[in-house]
Amino acid sequence: MKQCPVCGQLNEDRSPACPRCGTVFPPPAPSGPPAFLPRPAAPLPPMPRKVFTWMDVSTVLGFVSSVLGYFFASVLLLPLGLAASILGFRGDRTRGLAVAGIVVSAIGILIKIMAILDELALLPHWFTNGVW
Ligand SMILES: [Zn+2]
Repeated sequence: MKQCPVCGQLNEDRSPACPRCGTVFPPPAPSGPPAFLPRPAAPLPPMPRKVFTWMDVSTVLGFVSSVLGYFFASVLLLPLGLAASILGFRGDRTRGLAVAGIVVSAIGILIKIMAILDELALLPHWFTNGVW
């Protein structure tokens, strides 16, 4: 076994690159005359994928904030959830949750705006009231 110098993952001695972080290992030192010509360097693996990015954090926080905004401090949490979800959408791993956060917070903001306008008596009740 050999240990990846970047992420510390233990890997097979023969593996050319770390499967966890994508770091390419140097080839093992030759221990005698080579029996055949060394092969050309293997093509580099695709871009190493980070396990966890700040965009994922933003997505999760945005979704939680969007849902909590329905119950507490909606004026603060709903716009925060919308912004964090939009930021998180730029990451490619948790896009579904980011979309959910955007939808949930956008609907909440609309409801809140309607409620505020209703409270200020700027809109007739038949316009702001729901079905029930
Ligand atoms: Zn690694």
